[in-house]
Amino acid sequence: MQNHSKEKSKVYIRRISDWSSAEAVSEALASVWLKMDGNSLVKKDDFLGIKLTFGEEGASGYIKSGWLKGLTALLREKTENLFTIETNTLYREKRSNAVGHLQVAYAHGYGISQSGMPVIIADGLHGRNSQNIAIRAEHFENVKIAKAVCETDFLLCLSHATGHCQTGLAAALKNLGMGCAARAGKLAQHSKTLPEITVAKCIGCGECMKICPANAIGIKKKKAILVKERCIGCGECTVICRSGAIEIKYDENAIKLQEKMVEYALGVKEALGSRLACLNLLYGVTKNCDCMSKGEEPIVPDIGILGSLDPVAIDKATLDLLGENTLKGIYPEIDLEAQIRHAEKIKLGLSDYELIEL
Ligand code: SF4
Ligand code: SF4
Repeated sequence: MQNHSKEKSKVYIRRISDWSSAEAVSEALASVWLKMDGNSLVKKDDFLGIKLTFGEEGASGYIKSGWLKGLTALLREKTENLFTIETNTLYREKRSNAVGHLQVAYAHGYGISQSGMPVIIADGLHGRNSQNIAIRAEHFENVKIAKAVCETDFLLCLSHATGHCQTGLAAALKNLGMGCAARAGKLAQHSKTLPEITVAKCIGCGECMKICPANAIGIKKKKAILVKERCIGCGECTVICRSGAIEIKYDENAIKLQEKMVEYALGVKEALGSRLACLNLLYGVTKNCDCMSKGEEPIVPDIGILGSLDPVAIDKATLDLLGENTLKGIYPEIDLEAQIRHAEKIKLGLSDYELIEL
């Protein structure tokens, strides 16, 4: 007899409300990995990269290196070739090149003497080291993934789940899709999401001009003006503007950004031959991601740690746990499920999941 029951991916959860003890968080993270039987996926002496974000200078929401102690102790049973791995940012802050990026990583506790792991900036000094990976999806035939990500044997995608001004949710799919792309790949994903300036609200402070990585903003007669041909759609100006004078138009282009992002995540999976696992940390969930959020208040109480081999299922579970209206209330124009739908369509994973409590 045919089995018509819908296939589901497993998502494990360990709930934690108190994140003040590094030992407790470390133990919880390790317990999720054990429950997933994560070490059975790691081969002896694998070059294993832990993909995370070190946070921007002045930010505090990034994943603390002390939390990784229990997890890395388990991983070392299989391999000593552990490292943290990240790519350069598109926007013009310290982490847009490997030198500044390493300085921020060390300042945030990710020096080898602190975390016990070297930091690899996967797309090189200026973000140009990439490898073309064929995916033949809707928006891209090929994607440009950071070279060292492609050379990694096993990738552990460790994501701090937050909101995001362009994609709604920033979690595993964003960490893989945007976070593992080389600079050219990040540009390719952003290329159609342009902001609009409301002149009446602009006070001519010039902050947007200073932060724009593409020199796409000028100030004329004390008002900001956008040079559309130069804009790469990174959205930085919309976050820095305190007057609310720059906004991204959340039309179908915002959906396309999410679709392109998950096609890049598919490229990562292809490059790694599916040797990938995800851990999402649902604590200090802010409106903006760790690149942009500086001192923001959390939008929901802390929830816990999720683990899965399926990046789609873990992000769908993350959205569900955050509550239907949390991010929807903050970003009403963004279709939050667009990234999940497209990721499932291109067979990156399943949106149906079984939530297993530890
Ligand atoms: S940051 Fe905002 S207010 Fe300041 S110049 Fe730019 S658009 Fe105008
Ligand atoms: S104008 Fe805004 S969205 Fe466009 S590149 Fe500059 S900072 Fe990014």
